[in-house]
Amino acid sequence: MDKQQEFVLRTLEERDIRFVRLWFTDVLGFLKSVAVAPAELEQAFDEGIGFDGSAIEGFARVYESDMIAKPDPATFQILPWRAEAPGTARMFCDILMPDGSPSFADPRYVLKRILAKTSDLGFTFYTHPEIEFFLLKNKPVDGTRPTPADSSGYFDHTPQNVGMDFRRQAITMLESMGISVEFSHHEGAPGQQEIDLRYADALSTADNIMTFRLVMKQVALEQGVQASFMPKPFSEYPGSGMHTHLSLFEGDRNAFYESGAEYQLSKVGRSFIAGLLKHAAEISAVTNQWVNSYKRIWGGSTRAAGAGGEAPSYICWGHNNRSALIRVPMYKPGKTGSARVEVRSIDSGANPYLTYAVLLAAGLKGIEEGYELPAGADDDVWALSDAERRAMGIEPLPQNLGEAISLMEKSELVAETLGEHVFDFFLRNKKQEWEEYRSEVTAFELKALLPVL
Ligand code: GLN
Ligand code: MG
Ligand code: MG
Ligand code: MG
Repeated sequence: MDKQQEFVLRTLEERDIRFVRLWFTDVLGFLKSVAVAPAELEQAFDEGIGFDGSAIEGFARVYESDMIAKPDPATFQILPWRAEAPGTARMFCDILMPDGSPSFADPRYVLKRILAKTSDLGFTFYTHPEIEFFLLKNKPVDGTRPTPADSSGYFDHTPQNVGMDFRRQAITMLESMGISVEFSHHEGAPGQQEIDLRYADALSTADNIMTFRLVMKQVALEQGVQASFMPKPFSEYPGSGMHTHLSLFEGDRNAFYESGAEYQLSKVGRSFIAGLLKHAAEISAVTNQWVNSYKRIWGGSTRAAGAGGEAPSYICWGHNNRSALIRVPMYKPGKTGSARVEVRSIDSGANPYLTYAVLLAAGLKGIEEGYELPAGADDDVWALSDAERRAMGIEPLPQNLGEAISLMEKSELVAETLGEHVFDFFLRNKKQEWEEYRSEVTAFELKALLPVL
């Protein structure tokens, strides 16, 4: 038994932990959990715990449904909302096949695979997410509109605002689980919040995002409201993005930084961005995986009223341009480690493991193939005409899930990164979602057409 495993077993005893939840994530990004008694844990560390994977989205075909969850002791945390003895703790798991080999259906393994390749190339990949979400008074299930929990706006600081109390309690809880928060504020729409996590290696960030979503839902319930990570719950308000800042390090040197270069951006940084741009359309089905995701990035004619909310629709990069898909944030003088790129398409409903895997794959491809970075866009690209954008070589992101699926289906990069099993399952599942959506007669059609036809 190694030191981390020993630490876990000792803590269980010292803190009177009676339940250990083993966490993992399905292909669509939903958190799954199986509780084990502490007495089982030694064996779980050795061999893992068997479970039937056939009912988990994307995990197994029925004839090979036995799977094994093997806890990662480095992710051990006591759940603070179950803190009083007897307590509950959790660990993230790796999913294995009965013969002990990694399961190709496990999103965590998809990310680990490309991280191993990244490390072979001499890099470490860091991510820093800005997570937006809504606090709602209710979550109606009959298709009617929810009610935001407050009526504040961007950076508002109002007394007796549910958001403020909520953020304080939520952040305290995250910090007690070892998740550092860098920044938090009210976002642009009523009820909308943003909490930014401190940068960490991509696997820790992805685990942290899964924990984050659960903690937000938990704290919301305690305050009598509901948290939602749906990309665009309201037509007339901005949606919830999960902008993520990415960087590569070589040892303790930021590989995106070069003193004196334009925006202090190294050749590695430029090629990485070029890769993100070139493959942006084909990875959209992963970074923006729901029918509803495309309502956020295509705020459309309501954008003028602010409903588009600075979500990107076109494939371009810029320095301080919030209409761009990729932004190179201002360099902090003296802080060479802070050189990074911000990807703004990702939404809060994404599976963080698969999303970081495809983004990393796209960026690495740019480095390996030496892609040239096209000119940056300084203008507000939404304000340009189609002809102007075309002249500048700026293509749109997919306009709906159907288009995104077609592009993904042809993508060698996505197929290779996700692996055959996840790639096939994901496409099948998303095609079904798109079909179901297309066959639905919507309130929009009834409202617009029934009175006149
Ligand atoms: N809510 C916007 C989005 O969907 C972002 C707003 C902002 O952080 N500037 O991406
Ligand atoms: Mg922000
Ligand atoms: Mg924001
Ligand atoms: Mg941002």
